[in-house]
Amino acid sequence: MKRLILASLIATAVTAAAPALAAGEAKNVIFFLGDGMGPSTITASRIYKYGEDGSLQMDKLERTARIRTYANDAQTTDSAPSMAAYMTGVKMNNEVLSMSADTVNVDPSKDANGNATINNCSATNGKPVPTILELAKAKGKAVGSITTTELTHATPAATYSHICSRNAAYAIAAQAIPGGAGYNTALGDGVDVLMGGGRNHFTPFDATTNKTGRGDGRNLLTELAAKGYTVAATKAEMAAAPNNKKFIGIYSSRSHLEYELDRTATPPLGEGATQPSLAEMTVKAIDLLSQNSNGFFLMVEGGRIDHALHNTNAKRALTDTIAFDDAIKAAIDKIKLTDPNLTNTLIVVTADHDHTLAINGYGKKGNPILDINRDYKTGLPTKDADGNTYTTLVFGNGPNRPNLRTNLESATVLADNYKQETSIRLSSETHGGGDVKLFATGAGSKIFKGSIDNTKVFNLLKTAFGF
Ligand SMILES: [Zn+2]
Repeated sequence: MKRLILASLIATAVTAAAPALAAGEAKNVIFFLGDGMGPSTITASRIYKYGEDGSLQMDKLERTARIRTYANDAQTTDSAPSMAAYMTGVKMNNEVLSMSADTVNVDPSKDANGNATINNCSATNGKPVPTILELAKAKGKAVGSITTTELTHATPAATYSHICSRNAAYAIAAQAIPGGAGYNTALGDGVDVLMGGGRNHFTPFDATTNKTGRGDGRNLLTELAAKGYTVAATKAEMAAAPNNKKFIGIYSSRSHLEYELDRTATPPLGEGATQPSLAEMTVKAIDLLSQNSNGFFLMVEGGRIDHALHNTNAKRALTDTIAFDDAIKAAIDKIKLTDPNLTNTLIVVTADHDHTLAINGYGKKGNPILDINRDYKTGLPTKDADGNTYTTLVFGNGPNRPNLRTNLESATVLADNYKQETSIRLSSETHGGGDVKLFATGAGSKIFKGSIDNTKVFNLLKTAFGF
């Protein structure tokens, strides 16, 4: 009896403590992820668009933290375990998505058509671990995951799927289809809002045009439509979609959405003419998700910042970072229409890992960040020890490493397709292992502070939600 009373006293104490922890509880959480958006990419983007004295939208959020990003088996992470750490609180191996720490990466193999549709993740290879999106869904909230990459890419996939390989895109897509084979039942009646690229992972093999697609012959978009989803392929179809239904928008037939620089070029490149901006996608996602009176969880990824950095093409990395930052602004403006002080809504902005971009030399204030370096005293081009000019932005590794450096001209380095010089020659630039930044504002944001591990962010999101 005494034990029972004691137990009930402890239970009461725990219950009584809970409201204090949950003070500023967030009804809604929007989690922004700039893929590969390390600290120097943020600084360079700020200077590119707003100057040294200016601020990005993300710079204006009151709460900040630094995040350690290493993976379970690697000093430098890829986007799978780093995003999965934010979403699940578990430190896992490189290339693994939202699985237990013992899960070993095994890549899919190719089918007769040459597409990697055969999933090699066995049922005994680790266990799924719950994601914050699944927890929010289980609490009756609406949930969404939107990106500028393929919808099955590592970052969005970490929110709604569990698998031993980020490359198993076709199996990842199947996990999002309610009632279908391979469905992730932890999603309840399904993710309410999905947007991105890579339609080929959702549609049957197309022997004529794309030469890619599902080996199992399923059309997952038809299956989603049968489950009540609006299926959109363009910005116009997205705009016309009713807000009271589930929604999937896939704006690219076989790959990622276009870079912002190409989407907004005249004329736009590829499918860019019909693709929405990330800001437009974000506002529509909020319109759709806010129909649920229990609140929502939304993940928004600026996914191609990373791709441009891998290419050491700083111009596209900076313009995609600005587009990502514009999406943050659009979301805050939209939320403030109904929640002026963000008393119900938490906004978190972070990156999954760094890159090897460096801001280099003692450039003059106001010198264009993409240009050759100019001395802060004289304004004249700065020279290396061999007498050649160089750019302010350089990378630790990547494809453009001249055996012998030569003089660089502004016209060359300011061109859209210019690849910055690097120290080590690699065909594709690698991620960096340094800490990244986190910014937060709104309901429950006070707890985001200090120098913390990426897995801790999951706990903070849960606390802010009051879960
Ligand atoms: Zn990457």
